[in-house]
Amino acid sequence: MPDLQIAADPSAPARDARPGLSGLTADELAAWFAERGEPAYRARQVGDAVWGRTASSVDDIRTLPAALREAVAAAFRFDTVGDTELRLSDGGLTEKALHRLSDGTNVESVLMHYPARPGQRERHTLCISSQGGCAVGCPFCATGELGFGRDLETAEIVDQVRHAARRLQAAHQRLTNVVFMGMGEPLLNLDRVLAAVDALNDPRRFGLGARHITVSTSGVVPGIRRLTALGPQFTLAVSLHAARDPLRDVLVPLNRRWPVAEVVTAAREHAAATGRRVTYEATMIDGINDTEADAHAMAELLRGDHAHVNLIPMNPVAHTPWSASPDAVIERFAAVLAAAGVTATIRRNRGQEIGAACGQLAAERAGEPAPAVVARRRARLVDESAQALRGERSDAPSPVGVGE
Ligand code: SAH
Ligand code: SF4
Repeated sequence: MPDLQIAADPSAPARDARPGLSGLTADELAAWFAERGEPAYRARQVGDAVWGRTASSVDDIRTLPAALREAVAAAFRFDTVGDTELRLSDGGLTEKALHRLSDGTNVESVLMHYPARPGQRERHTLCISSQGGCAVGCPFCATGELGFGRDLETAEIVDQVRHAARRLQAAHQRLTNVVFMGMGEPLLNLDRVLAAVDALNDPRRFGLGARHITVSTSGVVPGIRRLTALGPQFTLAVSLHAARDPLRDVLVPLNRRWPVAEVVTAAREHAAATGRRVTYEATMIDGINDTEADAHAMAELLRGDHAHVNLIPMNPVAHTPWSASPDAVIERFAAVLAAAGVTATIRRNRGQEIGAACGQLAAERAGEPAPAVVARRRARLVDESAQALRGERSDAPSPVGVGE
């Protein structure tokens, strides 16, 4: 049970039951028009408007007769993330969007601009959410602190991307990468995430190459296996954070259900089957998972693998007792990995002042918890991490119902 659950908003409207158009396949849209005795080109006209980025509502699809526009608008939504607030930071290089969904659920996406460098073209990377909140409950993560709200619909995932693409287009820029590293655990909403990736990847819809899409997981082993069976769909990133079970139990509570060795085995099998390198992520927390012993444990775990590690200094999160590891410590950690032949990159964090680690704006919206609740949470994390650093495993249960 998270310490701070998202409070239900009594003033929130009921969820809009109309599916978003961007969540439909071309066949589903064609079937809807066929059922109404409409010619097939009507579905193409709607599809062109959804993916063409010039229309902003069904009403803008002027190639459709008025009565048909009305019927489409009554059945579907053109945009499921229309209500969006933007905040800029890093001199405009980071744009954080807080999307308010039809039922009042707040989710975030973050657009990061990387100017061209020698040998590298400019990139515009969007980090998107797959769920409102998250049931996994990693204690250093603002989303985890919120607890689980609900799964996002396919269109609610895709429309975060359409929203950013429209903004980029206005500046004559193009989205180059999408990463599922926003709110939520994508592999616990896998059907919708796969449908969204399909829409993003399809050349007749969004048209972004599979290599430019990355899905990050905290280690849902059956989900990783399902992806392996499907073949290469996108790049897989695994949030490792610690190579030893006692500590990973605390940092990624899902580890109590699928321990680190099982996660790494599943990731290895994925790499072997798809020929793609696995990326591991480690959020570096001062004095917690950045010790020499942790570096050696990670080096041993990944030695000889077709893998790469990203070391990311922890973004400050309001209700933890922890902070980012110093640069010199992270550099030492990377050197231990390198000595074992495991390549690692240190990632500078982006947009700290606007809380770009996803979930921070939504957490802010959820309101400040009572001081006693915050104090209890901090004390629990201090105790649990101290126990883990002594090498003792936690007896706390895995997050309830997760992965059933
Ligand atoms: N649930 C998935 C994807 C969303 S989280 C997962 O955990 O992989 C995306 C990444 O952001 C994860 O690697 C997560 O560990 C990291 N992250 C979360 N909170 C962070 C923080 N405060 N500082 C740095 N990275 C953080
Ligand atoms: Fe969920 Fe990922 Fe945050 Fe963990 S890091 S709580 S899995 S969103």
